[in-house]
Amino acid sequence: MNPYPRPMGKLIGELSKLPGIGPKTARRLSFYILGQSKNEVKTLSDALIEARDKINYCSRCNHLTEGDICSFCSSDERDLSIICVVESPRDVVAMEKTGEYNGLYHVLHGAISPMDGIGPDQIKIRSLMPRLEKGEVEEIIIATDPNAEGDATAMYLAKLIKPLGVKVTRIAHGIPVGGDLEYADEVTLSKALEGRREI
Ligand SMILES: [Zn+2]
Repeated sequence: MNPYPRPMGKLIGELSKLPGIGPKTARRLSFYILGQSKNEVKTLSDALIEARDKINYCSRCNHLTEGDICSFCSSDERDLSIICVVESPRDVVAMEKTGEYNGLYHVLHGAISPMDGIGPDQIKIRSLMPRLEKGEVEEIIIATDPNAEGDATAMYLAKLIKPLGVKVTRIAHGIPVGGDLEYADEVTLSKALEGRREI
């Protein structure tokens, strides 16, 4: 016999679809949620729906934003001469945590991976090019993950961008090969940024 009333089974099922949440954690969270007041649960469910409804991708850099342009692209305190290219919005968060970077970003939403049928047109590479036309950008720092896909993407970008006379660098030191930028600690990532090399 199923020990849970139907709606609770449904809640456990939905929670266990989330990354990092196994059935045991899903059950624990469900019991916790059921112990909360109706108001508290509504606040949580409203936050989920509002985040999904109101958050879009920046029309310039593809990072997360509530409006059309993200807080980095609309800030007058960022260095407009450097763009750091990353694979995902999570990597922007990782870079910001270092406190060492003050330029702009460009989020690719993926990496080139011929094995998975992902070419340059399947990720957001094209929208980077108009950003280089004004001549303000002096350096592109490629901070894709240090794995085969990240390297292939870096090489592709370097070929595309270098003829425009823009310096292209790649962060390298400290991040383990095959690692993920998002999980690098701040000190490692700061060193990787500091030790970037021209490609
Ligand atoms: Zn932006």
